[in-house]
Amino acid sequence: MPDGSPEIFFTLQGEGRHTGAPSVFIRSSLCNLHCHWCDTPYTWNWKGKNLSHESGQTYERSEQIIQLSADQVAEIAGKHGCSRYVFTGGEPLLQERSWLELMAHLSESDADSHFEIETNGTLLPCEDFLKKINQLNVSPKLANSQVTEKLRYKPEICRDLATTGKADFKFVVGNQTDLEEILAIISAADIPADRVYLMALAATPAQLDRNHAWVAEQALAHGFSYCDRLHLRLYGAKRGT
Ligand code: SF4
Repeated sequence: MPDGSPEIFFTLQGEGRHTGAPSVFIRSSLCNLHCHWCDTPYTWNWKGKNLSHESGQTYERSEQIIQLSADQVAEIAGKHGCSRYVFTGGEPLLQERSWLELMAHLSESDADSHFEIETNGTLLPCEDFLKKINQLNVSPKLANSQVTEKLRYKPEICRDLATTGKADFKFVVGNQTDLEEILAIISAADIPADRVYLMALAATPAQLDRNHAWVAEQALAHGFSYCDRLHLRLYGAKRGT
């Protein structure tokens, strides 16, 4: 966070099947993609790397990363008295072993701890991780991310994640072209319709208001769920919420 503290915060889950549930979010740095419109470019867009982002802004890596041990993170995250944890990024699966360690610490102090992870669908977690995690929120990226298909499109990984029975797939959709691409991914990866959430492309509440009705209509037409952006409605595009 700008004040030098780690981005660990207590808020309402804003997306997906647990929308509205009080949750502790833990944001890890680093990503294996570099989406043009990423809303957390401070996790990967380092000065000198020559990656492109719509904001044109780059970040000093040493100013954006704080290194903590799993027990330090558990102490900070555990103080909210909430047993629902969401691991986010960046791409959190790049630090899979550390999350496993963290889950062990948190489960030790509260056996009812519930763990969710948000991931871009390009990395397959190990068996231990899949046993321990309760919910995977997978968000495969489309051509509109401006990331090469080779890096972002991994239908075989999405298929494996779908077979775990723990994965929901959340797609950000802005127009008909996006929707067609999404339908092709769903078909290639055999993702069951009841695991698909469509979410409107929006960075502000005003953009959300402009796009949500069409996206909701498409969700209904294809038997998918519509996913709002509760945190955007409640807090706007604000870091740490
Ligand atoms: S995968 Fe997610 S965190 Fe990584 S660049 Fe894309 S939007 Fe940002």
